[in-house]
Amino acid sequence: MIAQPVTSPTLPAPKKPERTASYALRLLGRAVRLRCPNCGQSPVLASWGKVNQRCATCHFRFERSSDSYFTGAMFFNLITAEFLFAVTFATAIILSWPDINWDAITYGAVGGMAITPIALYPFSKVLYLTVDVFMRPVRPEECDPANTNWTWLGV
Ligand SMILES: [Zn+2]
Repeated sequence: MIAQPVTSPTLPAPKKPERTASYALRLLGRAVRLRCPNCGQSPVLASWGKVNQRCATCHFRFERSSDSYFTGAMFFNLITAEFLFAVTFATAIILSWPDINWDAITYGAVGGMAITPIALYPFSKVLYLTVDVFMRPVRPEECDPANTNWTWLGV
């Protein structure tokens, strides 16, 4: 006899997260427009690098944990900057082959690597939030403006 999973007759079955390609593309579109990943209506950023506390439309709290939530955004920032450096470096070499101007590439790379992470800083926060929403779907408690009891899990 095969054991059946235990289900509670009083609790509804947990909803499976919607992790389809179309959902990922929808979230990515919202991230490109710097909009709330939950509803896509209101902007995530209040100003350069400053994140609104909640979405003005659906009240989703953008900082999903109590401390240092956007630390993970630095990872996305550096990965994106390194990727852009690699693409730019390869393109510069291919386009100028065989007379490669190594001085221009050297100074350009240093300048680019100094400026790019700063320029991408606010976008990396929105991208990090979007990936987090994709991996950990928004729960109704996170859209309750009265809920201020946050833990490292988000609610
Ligand atoms: Zn929203």
